[in-house]
Parts: sequence; C-alpha cells; structure tokens
Amino acid sequence: MNIDSSPIAAIATAPGRGGIGVVRASGKNLQALIGALFGGDALKPRHATYIPFKQADGSIIDQGIAIWFKGPNSYTGEDVLELQGHGGPVVLQMLLARVLEAGEDLGLRLAEPGEFTRRAYLNDKLDLAQAEAVADLIDASTEAAAKSASQSLSGAFSKTVNTLVGSVTNLRMLVEATLDFPEEEIDFLEKSDARGQLKGIVEALEQVFRQAAQGALLREGLNVVLVGQPNVGKSSLLNALAGNDVAIVTPIAGTTRDKVTETIQIEGIPLNIIDTAGIRAPEEAIDVVERIGIERTWSEVAKADVILHLLDADHGPSRSDENITAAFPEGVPVLRIWNKIDLSGHKPAVDVMEDATHIYLSAHDHVGIDLLRKELLRIAGWQQTGESLYLARERHLIALKNAGAHLARAGEHAAQNDQSLDLFAEELRLAQVQLSSITGAFSSDDLLGVIFSRFCIGK
Ligand code: GDP
Ligand code: ZN
Repeated sequence: MNIDSSPIAAIATAPGRGGIGVVRASGKNLQALIGALFGGDALKPRHATYIPFKQADGSIIDQGIAIWFKGPNSYTGEDVLELQGHGGPVVLQMLLARVLEAGEDLGLRLAEPGEFTRRAYLNDKLDLAQAEAVADLIDASTEAAAKSASQSLSGAFSKTVNTLVGSVTNLRMLVEATLDFPEEEIDFLEKSDARGQLKGIVEALEQVFRQAAQGALLREGLNVVLVGQPNVGKSSLLNALAGNDVAIVTPIAGTTRDKVTETIQIEGIPLNIIDTAGIRAPEEAIDVVERIGIERTWSEVAKADVILHLLDADHGPSRSDENITAAFPEGVPVLRIWNKIDLSGHKPAVDVMEDATHIYLSAHDHVGIDLLRKELLRIAGWQQTGESLYLARERHLIALKNAGAHLARAGEHAAQNDQSLDLFAEELRLAQVQLSSITGAFSSDDLLGVIFSRFCIGK
C-alpha cells in the first residue's frame, strides 16, 4: 500500500454558517507552508496563536487562531495545520484558496473525501474499525448511537477483537507445533485442553457478536412500514409512538405523493417509519400513474423489517384490507394493529395468533402504545443488557459471523476420532483472517476505497 503524503487541505467544518470554521492542512512537512502564510517561525507547535490570515498582497481575509501540530503528534500522524476563522462559507473558501495558493509550490492540493482519516489509518493513528467509528460518530442520529460510536473510536471494540485474535493465534501456534510431531497428535487435544480453549474463544466471540449486533441496530435502526386504509389512524399512531422522544427528524418527502419517511426513536433505537398513505393492493390500482406509485410503495414494503397493518377495531377489516394482507411479502413480520379501541370497547392487549401478532390500542387516547413499543423492540432484537455496545457495521458483523463458522468447523475437526489437526489449524487460520479484517490488518486497497470514499471532504 503506498502512502501518499503529499500535502492536502480542505475545509474541515460543516458547510453553512457557524461561529467558527476550520481549514485544515496535512502533509509530511508543512513548515514551508507555515512560512509562506505567516512568515518565519510565527507558530510554535501545539500552541494556539491569534494571528491575521492574509492574502499574498497583505490584505486581511480574517483574524483567527492558527495551530500547528508537528507530526507524528497529530490526527493524521503528519504535520497538521489548523486555521480557525469565522465560520462563513465565503470567508472559509477564501481562506482555503489562500492556503492552496501558498502551498502551490509544495504540491498542496484539495483533500479527497475521508483522506485525513485515511492517512490517520495508514500512519497507524487509528485502526480501521476506529476510522469507521469517526464517520459513525459524526453521523450518529441518537445519543445512544453516539455513545457506542465513541466507544468504538476509543478502541474498545478493536481491543476486544484483538484479544480474540490473540487467543486464536495462541491456539493455532500450539496446534501447528504439534503438527511437526505426528506421534504426539493423539494426546495433543487432551493435554493442551484445545477443546476447552476453543470453547472459551467461541463464547467470547458470541458475546462480541451480541454487543456488535446491538450496536449495529443503533446505527441502522429498524425499517417499519405503516399500512392501512385512509383515516384508520396511521398519522395519529406515528405521533403517539414518537411520544416524548422529540426525535422526529424532518420528514423526507418521498418520490411519490404517497410516501413519507420519519425517523423516531424508542429507547435510542431509530425507527425509520414509512407512512404509505393510500396503499392499495397491486391489482386495485386505477391508472398508470397510480400503479407506478403503488409499485414503489410495495417495493418499500418488501424491504421492511416489520409491517404495521392498521385496522379499525370498531369497523373491522375491509375488503381492501384483505387484498393488502394477501399481497404482503413472505418472511416480513406483520403486526396487526387494531386501532380505536376507545370506540370498540376492546381492552389494550397483545394477542399472538398464527397469522400475526395482533395488538389492540388507541392511538388517539395513547392506550396500549407501550405494548406496541415493546413488541417493536422485541422484533428488533433489542435487549437491555447493560453491556457496552459497539457501533458495528454490517462488514464487522459478517466478519464475526464468518469467524464463528470457521471456529465451529474447527470444533468438528477436533471432535473427530482421527483428529484432523491440520484441518483444525487451517480453520483457526481462516477465523483469524476474518477477525483481523475488522481492524484492518488484512484489508485490501479496494476495501479502504469503499470505506473512506463515504466520508465527506475535510474528515
Ligand atoms: P390516517 O389517515 O390513517 O393517517 O388517520 P389519522 O391519524 O389522520 O386519523 C384519522 C381520524 O381518526 C382522525 O380524526 C383521528 O383523530 C381519528 N383517530 C385516530 N386514532 C384514533 C383512536 O384511537 N380513537 C379515535 N376515537 N379516533 C382516532
Ligand atoms: Zn395520515
């Protein structure tokens, strides 16, 4: 992997207006840049210097704070220069342009998305899981998500994974040493308690997987689709669910007039709720335009983690409801919500039936809403364990799962009478490769490209 340490610069703060804004530069040797901008040794490493930011002709762009982090003691591990000016888009663009101009002879260029963090990774300031946590912390949509992102960023997740890698490596070394002395193979598994060690590793892996899967839930949330006839109470239910969480994120107007997504949270878990106002069974669509809209809605339904089918507890299901039910995709859990029990006289309840789980509630009177919230958390697989969570990504979960599969196969080899130790060792090696990919010990350039290109410029 080639480390490009040519100097780069970008605006590091979010676009828009703010109290302050930061232009950041990084490179192997920024002293010449500092000289060109401020002259001589105007800046002491790691000291904040209040200083005018000037154009080449001496006119002033802004006054602000300049900080020079001398490599390797910086975010990227290279020299880093941070200029904190006033946070307006025009002034920061001017400042960035000035920095690029001053560094032209040094080959200073605009940074690519995620390039600062990529360099931090390549210079061993962060491992891959930590670098991903930087993006996840910035993107966190709930407090719980932010908390577990910073847990991963601090290296807690990496440390746990590295401990697992260490245990697998130890066991592997033991096995491989035995492979050189075939006459001892038979006793090996007993003597070294290889099976016991393997069992311990599998248990530790299962715990990490649990913590990571729960963390992933905080990151991804649960996709919930709300379907039901007009006036059955979909909007009312959405409001009731959002409750006091004041977490309603701006509604994103869908591509069709019939689709609105809102994100609310329950115990910190984001629920991405799609309100499919006006859904009909595919064959009930009236004209071409409506049919396209309805097809889109049904493709949303197919992607859902759970379908909430709202019904009127007072009037019972309509023929349309039956057609909609028939069109539900297989395999997606359905909750049948009987709303308006204040009119029908039902008691709030959860009724697990063969076709679906039925919940009786009143969105209007906020009765039975807690039953629904609990049911949604159950479907999400949320458990309040008090364990710390790692804001893991799909990539991490897959690696953990694959590692688990290799360990299981290793266990099978160890259990066989012929004790195929070479196969046992090979499965351990494969498990180790999977685990190591989480922190990036064996990652390809392609993977790095995918991970870092999703960052914004300036991170
Ligand atoms: P939507 O078209 O499915 O989104 O339905 P709305 O949420 O807009 O509700 C339609 C009407 O039903 C409104 O007048 C609501 O006040 C009323 N409504 C909703 N939920 C309840 C309920 O639980 N009980 C009663 N009595 N009325 C309800
Ligand atoms: Zn509505």
